[in-house]
Amino acid sequence: MASLFNNALQQLDKAYEHLKVSKDVKEILGSPKEAIHFWIPVRMDNGELQTFEAFRIHYNDHLGPTKGGIRFSPAVCLDEVEALSFWMMIKCALVDIPFGGAKGGVVVDTKQLSQAEIERVSRGFVRGAAGFMGPDRDIPAPDMYTNAKIMLWMSDEYNTIRGKYKPAFITGKPVALGGSLGRDSATARGGFFCIRELMKLKNKTPEKTKVAVQGFGNAGSHLAIMLHEAGYTVTAISDSSGGVHCEEGLDPKHLLSIKKKEKKPLKSLASHAPNARAITNEQLLELKVDILCPAAMENQITKENAGKIKAQIIVELANGPTTPNADEILEKKGVLIVPDVLANAGGVTVSYFEWVQNREGYYWDEDMIDRRLDKIITKAFHRTNDVMKEKGVTMRTAAFLTSVKRVASAIDAKGLI
Ligand code: GLU
Repeated sequence: MASLFNNALQQLDKAYEHLKVSKDVKEILGSPKEAIHFWIPVRMDNGELQTFEAFRIHYNDHLGPTKGGIRFSPAVCLDEVEALSFWMMIKCALVDIPFGGAKGGVVVDTKQLSQAEIERVSRGFVRGAAGFMGPDRDIPAPDMYTNAKIMLWMSDEYNTIRGKYKPAFITGKPVALGGSLGRDSATARGGFFCIRELMKLKNKTPEKTKVAVQGFGNAGSHLAIMLHEAGYTVTAISDSSGGVHCEEGLDPKHLLSIKKKEKKPLKSLASHAPNARAITNEQLLELKVDILCPAAMENQITKENAGKIKAQIIVELANGPTTPNADEILEKKGVLIVPDVLANAGGVTVSYFEWVQNREGYYWDEDMIDRRLDKIITKAFHRTNDVMKEKGVTMRTAAFLTSVKRVASAIDAKGLI
């Protein structure tokens, strides 16, 4: 598998073709600032001790404390966390929130662990990395296969270590315990706002727009439901096992409730939707739809399948779903890609709101969160669209130009003797 971090650096090089930055900036942005690599010893339910490999990387902190999620996945590795921490830096700068970029990972398959074992892994992560994180240094959050409950265990462990109540240590906590309203649906809502603005620019209405969503985790399921409720025709959805497709449209909320109740993979639920059929994830990506939303994982659209993509618009809810080779093929085909660093930035934006609320000790209502999120994402969307038009580049390169410019000016202003 190609290096994800290399993909990220190739995207950065593309931006450098249109942006003059100092040699110092290139040197600083070419690698992370710091990283820890450690192993978490966990007593398993059967009494045996097992160690889990873990990472936390701070890519850059010139714009503020570093920010980014922690991923639990059997496939996570240093290269992947490096790329993800880099994209967090780009993302935070793009939406103009005062954070640098970070990411963490634990090599673990949560599907094989009991809840008590997952709790011990989560608390172990904080014990291993507490000195490297904190509300003024590095603020973690959920990512793939981590959720509000895990954030709560991590928050509790941090409070115990510090002997203080420090809710701003981590975001994505349950609302009852210092979390922010709207955080769980924020990634999808940000993507939804991008789609709404795009439809306005293209003079299109939801009723005439067909969408396929790959991934039925937090981001994908919320987005599919929001789009369906706004009148879009969601013709296909999938999880890691495969998905369902129906040209007349699906009801994602209904399918989510059945999936939860029956604890079955989506592909086996086709009989629960009229005229639906089971499809593979590969087939979903190649469907004839207006908008394709990869909301699962990285490296899904590659040079092998990019030529077969029929959607004219791709909205990246996942991080890094499109490889640089695929980007080139799609650009030639005239496909518009709303890049991950913009389309999924709603998550970290509401994380920022959560951090602010925790520090103030004053909590906002959902309406306030929604309005502020809308303002930030809509502004970032149009700014990126304007740069794209002005410079004649892709939307991804336009996003990078805006972000890198911001980080670069901070690096140059600070200097280094
Ligand atoms: N893991 C999410 C992302 O990739 C959220 C990060 C955060 O809220 O800090 O954007």
